[in-house]
Amino acid sequence: MSRAARIGILGGTFDPVHIGHLRSALEVAELLELDELRLIPSARPPHRETPSSSAEHRLAMVRLAVEAVVPLAADDRELARARPSYTIETLESLRAELGEQAQLFLLVGWDAFCGLPTWHRWTELLDHCHILVLQRPDANSDAPEALRNLLAARNVADPLTLCGAAGQISFVWQTPLAVSATQIRQLLANGRSARFLVPDAVLAYIHAQGLYRATN
Ligand code: ATP
Repeated sequence: MSRAARIGILGGTFDPVHIGHLRSALEVAELLELDELRLIPSARPPHRETPSSSAEHRLAMVRLAVEAVVPLAADDRELARARPSYTIETLESLRAELGEQAQLFLLVGWDAFCGLPTWHRWTELLDHCHILVLQRPDANSDAPEALRNLLAARNVADPLTLCGAAGQISFVWQTPLAVSATQIRQLLANGRSARFLVPDAVLAYIHAQGLYRATN
C-alpha cells in the first residue's frame, strides 16, 4: 500500500513573498519529508495600509517564487473566495480535495500559535491537520494558559513521528532569516534595491508591474 500524501500548508499575505518564507518552507519540507508544501496567499481587507499589491499580484509572485522548486507550490483557494477565509475553512477545503488519508501539516509561527484560542472554531483545527509550530532555537517562552492542556495532550517531541492524518502538535526549531515583507516594501518605496531578498523572478515582476513604488 502506498503511503499517505504528506502536505504542508503555509498561509500569509506574501506582500511580497521573500527568501525568509521560502527558506523556512523548504527547510520544513525537507525535514518533514513532505510531498508538497503549499504557500496559500490570503485575501485581505481592502483598507490595509498602502502601498500593497493586489491579490492577483501577490499570487503571481508566489507562483514565480515556487516555480520549479520541488516540493513548494502555490495554492489560490483563499483568493477564489469573495471574503477573507478562516483557516478552518481552508483546511476543510483542502481535506475535501486531498481525502481523509492525507497527512496535513499547518505551519504556524510561535506568536500565531499563542493566539490560536482567538481563531474561528479553533478547537476543530486539529480535526483536519497536525500543527507545526515554528520556533526560534533561542526562544524561551511558555505557552499561554489556554493552550497548556492541549499541548499536554497533543504535543509530540519529534515532528517526524507525527502520525495519522491530523490531531497532533510538534515544534520545529529554526532560525528565521532577518527579512520581512514590510522591510522590502520600504526599501522599494525609497528607491532602494530588494535584490537577494526576493527571488530574481519576483523582483523582475515587481519592477515590470511597478509595485511598491512611492506614489508621490
Ligand atoms: P509583513 O512584514 O507584511 O507583516 P511578513 O514578512 O511577516 O509580512 P507574512 O506574509 O505576513 O510575511 O508571513 C507569512 C508567514 O511567514 C507567517 O507565518 C510568518 O510568521 C512567516 N514569516 C514571515 N517572515 C519570515 C521569515 N523571515 N522567516 C520565516 N518565516 C517568516
